[in-house]
Amino acid sequence: MDYVASLMEEVVAKNPAEPEFHQAVQEVAESLTLVFDKHPEYRSARILERIIEPERVVMFRVPWMGDQGDVHVNRGFRVKMNSAIGPYKGGLRFHPSVNLGILKFLAFEQVFKNSLTTLPMGGGKGGSDFDPKGKSDAEVMRFCQSFMTELHDHIGPNTDVPAGDIGVGGREIGYLFGQYKRLANEFTGVLTGKGLNWGGSLIRPEATGYGAVYFAREMMATKDDTLFGKTCLVSGSGNVAQYAVEKLIELGAKPVTLSDSGGYIYDEEGIDRAKLDFVMELKNVRRGRISEYADNYPGTVYTAADASLDHNPLWAHNADCAFPCATQNEINGVDATNLLDNGVRVISEGANMPTSADGVTQFVEAGVLFAPGKAANAGGVAVSGLEMAQNSMRYAWTREEVDLKLQRIMADIHGACVSASERFGSPGNYVNGANIAGFLKVADSMMDQGLV
Ligand code: NDP
Repeated sequence: MDYVASLMEEVVAKNPAEPEFHQAVQEVAESLTLVFDKHPEYRSARILERIIEPERVVMFRVPWMGDQGDVHVNRGFRVKMNSAIGPYKGGLRFHPSVNLGILKFLAFEQVFKNSLTTLPMGGGKGGSDFDPKGKSDAEVMRFCQSFMTELHDHIGPNTDVPAGDIGVGGREIGYLFGQYKRLANEFTGVLTGKGLNWGGSLIRPEATGYGAVYFAREMMATKDDTLFGKTCLVSGSGNVAQYAVEKLIELGAKPVTLSDSGGYIYDEEGIDRAKLDFVMELKNVRRGRISEYADNYPGTVYTAADASLDHNPLWAHNADCAFPCATQNEINGVDATNLLDNGVRVISEGANMPTSADGVTQFVEAGVLFAPGKAANAGGVAVSGLEMAQNSMRYAWTREEVDLKLQRIMADIHGACVSASERFGSPGNYVNGANIAGFLKVADSMMDQGLV
């Protein structure tokens, strides 16, 4: 049996019922065979096998009370995947679909992503099966306080620094930070994504979406092309999607779609600044549904999500570029075929692992510009790293300074992917490039630090 098959047999047996984790490991393992052929020392030190096994997992009960005195119990997690190059770093996700397997896939991806940023951050991820949707601010606060009461013993500015992810934005980070400060009796940079008045960084909210667009710009520059005038499909309507659209508008592209779990809107005229402001108010303040966009802008088509379809019609419109910014496996094999058939030649993943394995294979074989999430969406954690640096200095950089650093980091990640893919015999393959470049720094650090 070849290396990947035997590794996967062990991974599946040891981590049953965790399909997203298997998918993430398989993709990385396939890329790394190119490295192991040239560097058997990594294989004999069983570096990948060690990266696959979390250094530690914390799982805990989160009891909280609803507004009517109703009692709820959720499950909380923190997966501490790898600390070879720095303290654990990665977001918290609050969504009913959260389970250990999903957080392990996200933490595993985070290890490589954080390595790519060039900043000293290890990989971790956490969260809960709590659903913030439909909850009052007071309920969200009580949940966050209960969650942090358990988590605070396991995190710290030099140990593990969580941030936001799906369902965890500025409001939740505020409540989590408040409770941490109260319990630890210290004001410290234990979370990123903080408010500007209390230790946050300018550009952090924008960073993931902007970064995914900057990465697309870098890829297109290799073909002497730009985003100007390009029609773009964007999914999601949360943090990443909103700022991807903002940057696309700024660069003269035409974003035409946005979605949430209820369905998607298609605005043939394009989403402009005023329409994006409406979406930001709708999603961040009123916490409403994307269908309201179509009520407000006649001429826009709203299509409700239909689980009986074998594809998502959002990905079946004619376009030049696609920015999946919602969730994992939102582009399946049929969607990938539709995208390619309808002219898409650039895919930059704002979300984590939004493309199924079958879809990834189609993009790579078609030779289009395909940026995997661990490279394309690394801008978020990169600016989180910059937030940590500013906290340590007790100093804040300007918006322009942070944005320039973000652009430089995205260009460096792009360069690292290109050079690793060329060095290991698969030029133009950003999947191999990202996996290999991310792996090498972590692997060499683990070799230096002995068998721990
Ligand atoms: P938000 O919670 O702000 O927004 C998520 C969006 O995706 C919402 O529109 C949500 O719709 C939609 N969505 C979530 N789950 C599903 C689902 N199962 N089916 C359909 N739609 C869904 O999250 P973010 O924008 O922060 O995160 C989006 C993606 O980007 C995730 O994959 C995340 O891991 C990744 N990411 C985020 C980073 C960050 O800095 N925030 C950094 C790097 C990656 P609804 O509201 O209806 O659920």
